[in-house]
Amino acid sequence: MKPAPFQWHAPETIEEALALKAEHGEAARFLAGGQSLVPAMNFRVAQPAVLVDLARISALDHLEFLADGTLVIGAMTRYRGIERDAAVARRQPLLAEALAEVAHPQIRTRGTLGGNLSHADPASEMPAVMLALQAHFLVRSASAVRSVAAETFFVGPLATVLGEDEMLAEIEVPPLPPGTGTAFLEVARRRGDYAMMGVAAVLRRGADGRCVAARLALCSAGPIPMLAVQAAQGLVGTGLTETDCAAAAELAVQEIDPMGSVQASPAYQRHLAAVLVRRTLAVAAERAAA
Ligand SMILES: Cc1cc2nc3c(=O)[nH]c(=O)nc-3n(C[C@H](O)[C@H](O)[C@H](O)COP(=O)(O)OP(=O)(O)OC[C@H]3O[C@@H](n4cnc5c(N)ncnc54)[C@H](O)[C@@H]3O)c2cc1C
Repeated sequence: MKPAPFQWHAPETIEEALALKAEHGEAARFLAGGQSLVPAMNFRVAQPAVLVDLARISALDHLEFLADGTLVIGAMTRYRGIERDAAVARRQPLLAEALAEVAHPQIRTRGTLGGNLSHADPASEMPAVMLALQAHFLVRSASAVRSVAAETFFVGPLATVLGEDEMLAEIEVPPLPPGTGTAFLEVARRRGDYAMMGVAAVLRRGADGRCVAARLALCSAGPIPMLAVQAAQGLVGTGLTETDCAAAAELAVQEIDPMGSVQASPAYQRHLAAVLVRRTLAVAAERAAA
């Protein structure tokens, strides 16, 4: 399959890219790793008249920990660079653990975190992970900059709050306080496939070992990445025992809205969610204790 004809621009600065987007509006799309956009163009599901290729903008390709522990990742940072970063594995292990489940190594070599989040596939791992980690996204247009909480960024399948003149420029992940344990588990038909259900958990224990904070986010569990707020709240104050995790799993299943797919009915997805939430919480609880 071949894409419809398009104009290609390869700006070298963020400002030039944003000016091109402002000029061409809806007719233009940013090209990041191309792992979702190019197949869509080849199938002619997407037919942008103009591609603004972000690959030459070095200011979008960076990863660093700030003095306060916040992890800042440029939108064009490839999955592979994040997955292989030793400091990320140590200080934000949930990211590294979940990235290993995203597609195949070849796709992770090209695909970018910014492209993934902007694509907003509800089956995708990273959006759920960003919700669990309470990340913020730096969104830029030619005339303004704003910070958007991951929780409000996704508005529907393949839809975000990004305006037609806006770019996702940076991802900010706050540090994990001491006593925190994280875990990500998913079930997919084959390794590298999109998950039929995926669960990200962040748990924090206080000095007495009881849970003082909990976040639980799921992918493939609704039209957007889903936060299981009641389930997480129910864990606070508990000892994170097997019974506590099982009770949270029951609550989480009521909070999700799985849409089903060719691989899994909504009923089967709910079953997977119940099992996975329990298991993911158990792993995170053990890690928080360690
Ligand atoms: C076989 C296969 C299996 C896959 N399996 C998985 C999987 O298991 N899990 C998973 O999460 N993904 C999976 N993917 C998708 C992959 O992760 C994509 O790379 C990712 O979703 C898009 O990232 P990208 O950098 O390639 O973006 P692109 O494809 O270049 O762009 C995606 C969309 O985002 C827009 N965009 C890109 N960057 C920006 C920006 N900075 N600001 C605003 N808009 C922007 C583009 O205009 C486009 O609309 C799979 C893909 C393939 C081909």
